[in-house]
Amino acid sequence: MDYAKRKKDTKQIGNILLVGGFDPSGGAGVLVDYYVIRSLGAVACVCPTALTVQTHKKFWGYKPLENKEFEDILKAAVESMIEVDAIKIGMIPRLEQVYILLNTIANLKVPVVLDPVVLSTSGGYLVDDLTVYKELMSVASLVTPNWIEARRLFGLESKDLNKWEEISAKSGVAILLKGGHRSGRVVEDILFYNGLSYSWKRSRLEGCFRGTGCFLSSAITFYLGCGYDLPSAVDKAENVITGALKKSVLLCDEVYLPVYIHFRRYSSL
Ligand code: PLP
Repeated sequence: MDYAKRKKDTKQIGNILLVGGFDPSGGAGVLVDYYVIRSLGAVACVCPTALTVQTHKKFWGYKPLENKEFEDILKAAVESMIEVDAIKIGMIPRLEQVYILLNTIANLKVPVVLDPVVLSTSGGYLVDDLTVYKELMSVASLVTPNWIEARRLFGLESKDLNKWEEISAKSGVAILLKGGHRSGRVVEDILFYNGLSYSWKRSRLEGCFRGTGCFLSSAITFYLGCGYDLPSAVDKAENVITGALKKSVLLCDEVYLPVYIHFRRYSSL
């Protein structure tokens, strides 16, 4: 039996490739992505782009992986997977990493979700120059900026949703504009896709929540990898993050972490 066939025959579960930053606090980045993918029922292989030095409240900086290190780890991650069903890209601090990534995934015709993270809630910049994300948009099925990231990425200051619809149509990329960073009692996320827009609303919860963007975009990647169309994948992922936010656990004063699966309280172990 040839190797490719054996691989396909033994595949039992979705395979997601995760590329992004390592956050030692576990509040964001590829650790959250991995948690979400495994919780939802697929497996993930992971390639870090940078090691950040941060807690939930403080940010000291980050060290990008050397190009060769990044390339070797990325290739090992891809090679470990029977078949890649979808890819999620988060923090990419170096332009060279973009070209290595584009080269490595060139033959994988699978959905790519790009979360163009710029700033951590712990207070630090994760990327200096948004050119990295602009370059990656050519392969993205969906880009998931918050309003601040979207304005910088697309150079559009307007709040007019028609203008955003136009930008999405012109650039040929679906955009999920996340409303979490805005003020107001309701958080609204809006998807612009194929000339249409879709909206999801949830009540804003008190407190500071870590990694919600990573959580949502990973869940979307999971559902795209399962074969759902984009609006359905976003809809399912929005349900997942809404439930996970309600079940959030307190990490330290006023900082919460969304959880998908309830775990036992420390005191009851
Ligand atoms: N740190 C890393 C490595 C990240 O990838 C991200 C988001 O993707 C963040 C921090 C920001 O996460 P938060 O939403 O908690 O600010």
